[in-house]
Amino acid sequence: MTEQHNDVRLHAVQADITTLRVDAIVNAANSSLLGGGGVDGAIHRAAGPELVHECRLLEGCKTGDAKATKAYRLPAKCIIHTVGPLWRGGGNDEAALLASCYRRAIGIAAARGLASIAFPAISTGIYGYPLALAAGTAVATVRDALLTAPSLREVLFCCFSADDLAHYQALLEP
Ligand code: ADP
Repeated sequence: MTEQHNDVRLHAVQADITTLRVDAIVNAANSSLLGGGGVDGAIHRAAGPELVHECRLLEGCKTGDAKATKAYRLPAKCIIHTVGPLWRGGGNDEAALLASCYRRAIGIAAARGLASIAFPAISTGIYGYPLALAAGTAVATVRDALLTAPSLREVLFCCFSADDLAHYQALLEP
């Protein structure tokens, strides 16, 4: 599914994010940045052990913030690690914190002049954020953040399951 937005293409794809050849992939990390389960574990395994060495130097990351590293053995050029909120029912600033993850990641990509970025469905795995809500926030926040990210030409929403893909596709329909 493709959508034109100020010349930026927003796509939803079903893939393992570690395989994507884009300028930046985003990692749904935990605040230690030292690796974990889900997409974080997959990224660390695929990037190789140098990644955790660089991550140690970053001294963690707050929920809603993002920090970049090199991508080592991955085909991407860099990894932007962000820490999504744990879903605690929706009344604990979850939406604002999730939006901040997308905004900060786009901000880092823009500051580096990157052209393409791929996001996983941040917080929707181990952190329990309902996918339909999270996808709505993801797409709306990215659309808005792109207005101040002139280098970005392509944004991929990388879905792990066909169900997730269907949600994103519905949101990206014109
Ligand atoms: P969180 O702790 O932020 O919830 P998870 O890694 O548990 O992070 O899940 C976030 C999303 O990433 C989920 O939709 C999960 O299915 C998906 N995911 C897990 N592994 C991969 C992968 N290799 N590529 C893309 N998405 C993945």
